[in-house]
Amino acid sequence: MSESEPVIAIDGPAAVGKTTVGRLLAQRMGCLFVDTGVMYRAVTASAIYEGMDIADEYAVTGLAKSIGIRIVDDALPGAQRVIVDGRDVTDSIRSQPVDRNVSVVSSYGGVREAMVAQQREMASEGGVVMVGRDIGTVVLPDARLKIYLTASPQVRVWRRQMELETKGPAVAFEATRADMERRDRIDSEREHSPMKPALDAILVDTSQLTADQVVERIVELWRTVN
Ligand code: C5P
Repeated sequence: MSESEPVIAIDGPAAVGKTTVGRLLAQRMGCLFVDTGVMYRAVTASAIYEGMDIADEYAVTGLAKSIGIRIVDDALPGAQRVIVDGRDVTDSIRSQPVDRNVSVVSSYGGVREAMVAQQREMASEGGVVMVGRDIGTVVLPDARLKIYLTASPQVRVWRRQMELETKGPAVAFEATRADMERRDRIDSEREHSPMKPALDAILVDTSQLTADQVVERIVELWRTVN
């Protein structure tokens, strides 16, 4: 794999800054940015929209296999919109109902199979920064550089709280903390592709770093593996 077509996997728990860092890194390296969390969120938003029982694995898996998820560039530079079967779900995928249900949806083996196949296809040409929970372990196990981002729980709750507050009505700090902890627990304890660092992943603690500093660190690491 040459310098011109990097494949970089970034994993880590909720609200650790993966999306912000991944997007900036992809811009910096001239790569495609794929935020795989968006895909699981899009399936969840669609299941809620269809009025499905989220506990109905069969129905939710059938939905995941049948819908077409497209991630397109927004008019705003660097931003992307998420389209499911022609319907724009960009705003709803970050809502609280989706936050509360996405980990159950993404624990279903059939849902993961459908998403992972699309993710590998997106990365097949190289030149991609992909972020998620299982990118280094399952989706792109041959990625040249694997990063696992961490941050203290306190910092992560604050980051998530700030994100929610810019988007809608105020949410209690305690509720944000409880939702995040629950999501991390389900994501790391699930049977299929649990969230964990790949054995060859490099851990980067972002608690005291700005997004630009984290990007700088990853670019340095990329140079060391090339
Ligand atoms: O990254 P984000 O918080 O948007 O991800 C939302 C949820 O999608 C995660 O909590 C997890 O349940 C699921 N997910 C996953 N595998 C990925 C990316 C996200 O299971 N590769």
